[in-house]
Amino acid sequence: MKKITTAEAADALRAQDNILILCHAHPDGDTLGSGYALCRALLAMGKHAAVLCEDPVPRMFAFLCDGMPQADFEPDYVVAVDVATLKLMGERVGAKYGNRVDLCIDHHFTNSGYAESLLLDDTAAAASEIIYALLQILGVSITPIIAECLYVGVSTDTGCFRYSNVTSRTLRIAADMLDLGADTARINREVFETKSRPFARLERMALNSVETFFGGLFATVTVMQAMFRESGAGEDEFDKIAAIPRQIEGVLVGASIREQKDGTFKVSVRTNPPMNAAEIAAQLGGGGHPGAAGCTLELPLDESKKALRTVVEDALRKAGKL
Ligand code: AMP
Ligand code: MN
Ligand code: MN
Repeated sequence: MKKITTAEAADALRAQDNILILCHAHPDGDTLGSGYALCRALLAMGKHAAVLCEDPVPRMFAFLCDGMPQADFEPDYVVAVDVATLKLMGERVGAKYGNRVDLCIDHHFTNSGYAESLLLDDTAAAASEIIYALLQILGVSITPIIAECLYVGVSTDTGCFRYSNVTSRTLRIAADMLDLGADTARINREVFETKSRPFARLERMALNSVETFFGGLFATVTVMQAMFRESGAGEDEFDKIAAIPRQIEGVLVGASIREQKDGTFKVSVRTNPPMNAAEIAAQLGGGGHPGAAGCTLELPLDESKKALRTVVEDALRKAGKL
């Protein structure tokens, strides 16, 4: 793995054609916004390009891919966006392209270095911030739909500009996107202010599952497959449930524990300073950012919860909170 600069990544892309862009599985607004912004720019440069993702695009982000070509060609160059490790690429996409990623564009400081070249900026709140810088160097015109892709990326990874990863650059990019024609009010309403009815049912069940530990410093929500079935909700809006525990006053570490179809548990960790979510997730084989990270536990529910509690207790103790 070789670390490269934005200018070097721009040169590499200029020299290539037949470019396949990979997003991470269970796609969020940043991986999709990054992927489709880059894809649209490459197409405008006259190149053949497409985006590929293991899982379907959530309905609220479907407008980002309107009119985009299928990934049905043999690529000459493979780019991954917002994908911290190969595991996050998903089984099928990972098996096909995991060992031949030419360029990874990412903002996770825990990036595992699986790509030939890595364009990493861990000060970026979203991979979409890096893509914007790249498109500026490439000199492509930022159309309103590209501006919406990038706006979706920066707004979703920052909880609509509320989290500690927001910098003045993030806000400037959002302002630029508004000037370039992004309908930010519509996006905010559809992505942050609207919940599907099934999701509203799931959220109620999730709220009933809240547990707190260590005098209220640690809180969890637990969502089982049966709750997805009963509510009719999919995983599309799960980010909003992962955010719940940390919203409780006094909580420094929040976690959602989600049963997956294969019986394993996906844990999303969200922290308030001084606690570091990535350090906690790393103790359990995962990774992420200082404020938001994740891991997968292949233990029964009770043991998964216990493993998580032990690691969180240790982290709280080390931070002098216990
Ligand atoms: P999640 O809770 O899955 O939304 O993850 C929060 C953040 O941590 C996202 O930016 C993920 O890309 C990242 N993340 C989640 N799981 C892992 C993992 N196993 N390794 C590295 N980063 C992860
Ligand atoms: Mn992501
Ligand atoms: Mn991201």
